[in-house]
Amino acid sequence: MSDWLNPGLAHLWLPYTQMKTAPAPLPVAASAGVRLKLADGRELIDGISSWWTACHGYNHPHIREAVAAQLETLPHVMFAGLVHEPAARLASRLAALLPGDLERVFFTESGSVSVEVALKMAIQYWRNRGRAEKKRIVCFRHGYHGDTFATMALCDPEDGMHTLFAGSMPEQILAELPDTPEMAAAFDRLLATHAERIAAVIIEPLVQGAGGMQMHDAATLAFIADACRRHEVLLIADEIMTGFGRSGRMFACEEAAQLGDFVPDILCLSKALTGGTLPLAATVARRHVFEAFLADDPAAALMHGPTYMANPLACAAANASLDLFAGEPRLAQVAAIEAQLRDDLASCAEIRGVAEVRVKGAIAAVELAGRIDLDAMRRRFPELGVWIRPFGRIVYLMPPFVIGGGDLATLTGAVRRVLTERAATL
Ligand SMILES: *Cc1c(COP(=O)(O)O)cnc(C)c1O
Repeated sequence: MSDWLNPGLAHLWLPYTQMKTAPAPLPVAASAGVRLKLADGRELIDGISSWWTACHGYNHPHIREAVAAQLETLPHVMFAGLVHEPAARLASRLAALLPGDLERVFFTESGSVSVEVALKMAIQYWRNRGRAEKKRIVCFRHGYHGDTFATMALCDPEDGMHTLFAGSMPEQILAELPDTPEMAAAFDRLLATHAERIAAVIIEPLVQGAGGMQMHDAATLAFIADACRRHEVLLIADEIMTGFGRSGRMFACEEAAQLGDFVPDILCLSKALTGGTLPLAATVARRHVFEAFLADDPAAALMHGPTYMANPLACAAANASLDLFAGEPRLAQVAAIEAQLRDDLASCAEIRGVAEVRVKGAIAAVELAGRIDLDAMRRRFPELGVWIRPFGRIVYLMPPFVIGGGDLATLTGAVRRVLTERAATL
């Protein structure tokens, strides 16, 4: 078939993959709209937007043109001592879109690194203010914040990485989501007890992603923000997954802002930032956070700077993606997707071996109970013409926002079918 496939597979190391037993990866040759085209000519409807990035579908002409034009003039340049138009425009636009005075943008190349930068900002913020002992981070069960060492330490401890790398990671403080009055009191006590050592609380607002697709409401988020304020702890919102419309609003934090004064101190963005075209991430700080780094002391400056930070091609793609959010009805599309996901997947709750169906914005998660054969499901979905990749106990859909009702029905139909087939084996 492809002359590169087998020779290349002998040398590739794939992510989170037991390469002895996992199904062979599918060779993909091209993408367009909501479809992936395989090397053998088959087409799959993409239900997960390439790890939640391709919000406008693949190969959107507006993004392609912006990247091509940027390639002609300035593909890359270092970002220390030099700045360029794509990054400057993008920073201004993000500041204008984000709530409150979240207005200082630090660009990196991946979500994990944007979280690492947020951690550095939080810890150095307190150090610069003479409180160097405030350096622990509070994270939540079922959270996911990345794969690097410091971010791994903030992920749910049951996902395996914690035991594997115990002793090599900074120790952080794990909390339960305060979504009942008792849990709220417990969370408040936790902060009260440890506030002197805590730099920040980090949360994925409204929807926790890769740690198990758990969902909480805006009131819980508003309570966490209020507790942080009362106990002098910074709040980091990891919107890497939820940012750019996925939860139903442009940013999930906006939903809590409806309930009162809610602006996280630091906010992380990545995944859909470039519409799924190029790697880019941003850590955005509020004015008071930035101001804590202004001093005559050079050592008070933020100590970070990735080689490829603010890559102009990636910034051009991100600007083009923001044009599409401004010019096309993305949030209305998300609302329509949410309604259809609720209707189409409601009946999944009746299938044997299904624990719960959860929907928020353009995110649907079906949590499974009982024995789970992930590899079998991962083999079966492409046979049905769809690209859906369950993980842990979760089968989920996070389609591109431009998907039509018919294609979405094909995705939800495939989920129902695979779960029904599985039920017969339980
Ligand atoms: C994906 C993700 C990350 C990590 O981003 P990478 O680009 O994979 O490093 C961090 N936080 C959340 C919420 C994510 O969904």
